Amino acid sequence: MTYISNDVMNEIRNKTDIVDVISKYITLTKRGKNYFGVCPFHDDHSPSMSVSPEKQIYTCFSCGASGNVFTFVADFEKISFAQAVRLLGEKVGISVGGISNFSEKKDEYFEIYELANKFYQNSLFTNLGKNAIEYLKKRNIDKETIKKFGIGLSIQKVSLTDYLKNKKYDIDKLINIGITNDQGNDIFINRIMFPIYDLSGNPVAFSGRIYNTKDTSKYVNTKETDKFKKGKLLYNYHIAKEHLKKNDSIIIMEGQMDVIRASTVGINNCIATMGTALTKDHKNIIKNMTNNIVLCFDGDEAGEKATVNAIELLEDTNIDIKVVRLPNNMDPDEYILKEGKDSFFAQIKNAINLIDYKMELLKKNKDFGNIKDVSSYINSVLKELINEKDDITIELNLKKLSDNFNIDYKTIKNKYNNLVKNKKEIKREIKPKKTYDKYRMAENYLIYYMIRDEKVLNMVENKVGYFPTKNIRELSNEIIYYFHKYGIINIADFISYISDRAEILKAFQDIIAMDIKDEFQIQEIEDYIFVINDYHKEMRINNLNKKLKEEKDPLKQAEISMEIMKIRGGSRNGIRD
Ligand SMILES: [Zn+2]
Repeated sequence: MTYISNDVMNEIRNKTDIVDVISKYITLTKRGKNYFGVCPFHDDHSPSMSVSPEKQIYTCFSCGASGNVFTFVADFEKISFAQAVRLLGEKVGISVGGISNFSEKKDEYFEIYELANKFYQNSLFTNLGKNAIEYLKKRNIDKETIKKFGIGLSIQKVSLTDYLKNKKYDIDKLINIGITNDQGNDIFINRIMFPIYDLSGNPVAFSGRIYNTKDTSKYVNTKETDKFKKGKLLYNYHIAKEHLKKNDSIIIMEGQMDVIRASTVGINNCIATMGTALTKDHKNIIKNMTNNIVLCFDGDEAGEKATVNAIELLEDTNIDIKVVRLPNNMDPDEYILKEGKDSFFAQIKNAINLIDYKMELLKKNKDFGNIKDVSSYINSVLKELINEKDDITIELNLKKLSDNFNIDYKTIKNKYNNLVKNKKEIKREIKPKKTYDKYRMAENYLIYYMIRDEKVLNMVENKVGYFPTKNIRELSNEIIYYFHKYGIINIADFISYISDRAEILKAFQDIIAMDIKDEFQIQEIEDYIFVINDYHKEMRINNLNKKLKEEKDPLKQAEISMEIMKIRGGSRNGIRD
């Protein structure tokens, strides 16, 4: 079991600002005294997550995710709470790594890939690497770029497998993670090596390119492993992320060479899908990076398909999508080499708005001399326009349709309005909210206010017999204990304190995520306490009512009824159910 002292955790948390940390992962906007952003823990389309600098907690009003800076990092990075504490501790110069049982060994996978990466990089700068360097030079890849992207070389004469075996790594492990083939030889031979990094910047795979031979496959990639899944990674993510503040827009490309080439002309906010279609995991990663993207896939037909797929996937997010379609089937790498830096900058700067791109796409295979085609085109465009948020864009496009096809503007506008109305009616379903019965509700309110006010805490301690729900009972005990120990309840610190008790933590997170006012009247608190204390009485009455229904003997029925009345008589009148 991991043990980090509460004092150490509190110290790290005190030196860390939750707004700073969270804004490294998602874009936050200040509204009032809190910050808001798109929640990374559910498929959020509008900012549902609030971050309170004052309380140092975050809360999603949609999915209920909530917690302190440690739980955010742990959930986002998919690491343990303790790992998150260590990670944030390192950033403020507080080491918790020395605590035994805590600093676990770095995964061997990362260790091996790091060694392999260094091995390939060194090989490139030996005598045997001269041809490869020449080749890269010819392709305008200079030493700086080589260093920046960790480009290396695999050489037949120097075996990576032997090197790693000498370091006592198990051959089965090397085969398993895609370094070595089943015959015990290197997978990559005589290729220029491009390391592929995971989202945290660890090398987890390679892409090897031929440079002096003819081979059927220009590129060979490491097979998919548990740490290298193309659908979950984006090439250059860890670097592009660092460049985001300045540009706040991400350019999505297909291949790693496109990204590297763009960097040689000073464009660093690019990521690549490495030839796969964009996935839902990619979508979540991108959503958390930025609200502005430029899709700049290859200029060929496959690139157009990829563009359309990406749009379909990303359309229901808040992301503003722009599209670049490069001419003559060129990919960004070729385009920059042939047309130069300025021309590529212009392409990015003049990227087409999503709606304009779609209107162009919809024109495909349509004969505008044909009335049917015209009508179907207009309908499809209107259907796209009802999803557009910008009024001016909508207005301009309605006018454009009216002008281009010589149709009365009012007709077009009416048609558009009808579509909007239909859409709203379909959307008018309300998401079911978490509902609690009155006891659970009273419990939640009491917990909510007892962490905010000492008076309530004392009332609960003295007046509540015990909470009906086990988690809440334990939570309340912990709160009371914590208060007596520290003399104050700091919500963010309390979350750390209960972090190793998953069920209680969950109950607590649900309660702080409740959308209720911070002020209260003592009478309300009295009512909640009454409801809780009434619980056992109600339970007994319920049981007796059940018995009553099953009882056939009228005499016994009367007895039970009497008993119920007796219990009821003891209860206060006028309490709302
Ligand atoms: Zn959420």
